[in-house]
Formats: sequence, structure tokens, C-alpha cells
Amino acid sequence: MLIKEFISEVNKTQMITTLLKHYKVGNVRVKLKSMKDHAHFDVDRGTLQLSTKYKTIKNSQFKQFLITILHEIYHAMDAKRYGWKKFKNMYEYEMNLLVSKNKDEYKDNKYEIEAEDFGQKNYSKWYNTFKKQDLI
Ligand SMILES: [Zn+2]
Repeated sequence: MLIKEFISEVNKTQMITTLLKHYKVGNVRVKLKSMKDHAHFDVDRGTLQLSTKYKTIKNSQFKQFLITILHEIYHAMDAKRYGWKKFKNMYEYEMNLLVSKNKDEYKDNKYEIEAEDFGQKNYSKWYNTFKKQDLI
């Protein structure tokens, strides 16, 4: 069996496009940015940021890549559901509430927990889909 050592930029872009369409956040504002994380949803601006740092992805980084994209897409889905300005307020309220309770504003944040669950739960399904499409 041939195992690809690297995932090309073309395949990476195709996977991201597929995911954005599938979760109906294809119209979310996307910004390309050189950053360490694969993706980040900017709650303040309602923008999904994608990293330009990795032209190709090593196979060993693939799981983290896919989970991160799914996690950030979940934030974009929340922003679409509530309207991004309202979601921004809800997110800030949650952070302030946690700080006032001496809890961690990210680790204990319900929006972060839901997004991470979503990434973990849907990872295998997409891994198999993309494998079948010979993208990975
Ligand atoms: Zn998050």
C-alpha cells in the first residue's frame, strides 16, 4: 500500500472547501494568515482564518489539522446560527462568567468544549471520506 508522506496544498484546499460547503458555512469570511495554528475563528470579526504557514501537511500532522478545521468550522456554524455579532456577545459573556467564577476562559468555555467535541466526533468520518477520494 502506498502511503503518502505529504498532503499537497491542492488536496488540503479541496478538503477545506468540501468541509465549508458541507457545513453550509461556505459564505463565511475567510482570511489567509501566516500563523502557527492550522485555523482560527476570529470571534471579534466573524472571520475564519486559515494558516498559510503549511503549504503541505505531513501525515503525522493530519489528524490535528482536520480536528482544528472542524473545531473552527463549528464556531463559524455558531456565528451563522446566531449572527456573528450576537455570538461575539454570547462568547464574551461566557468568558466573563468563567473569569468571575475563577474558571479558565477557554478550557471551561462551553463554546470551546462543544467545538472540540464536534472535531473529535467527526474526525474519523472525514478521514475515511477523504481517504476514499484519494486526497490523503
Ligand atoms: Zn475554539
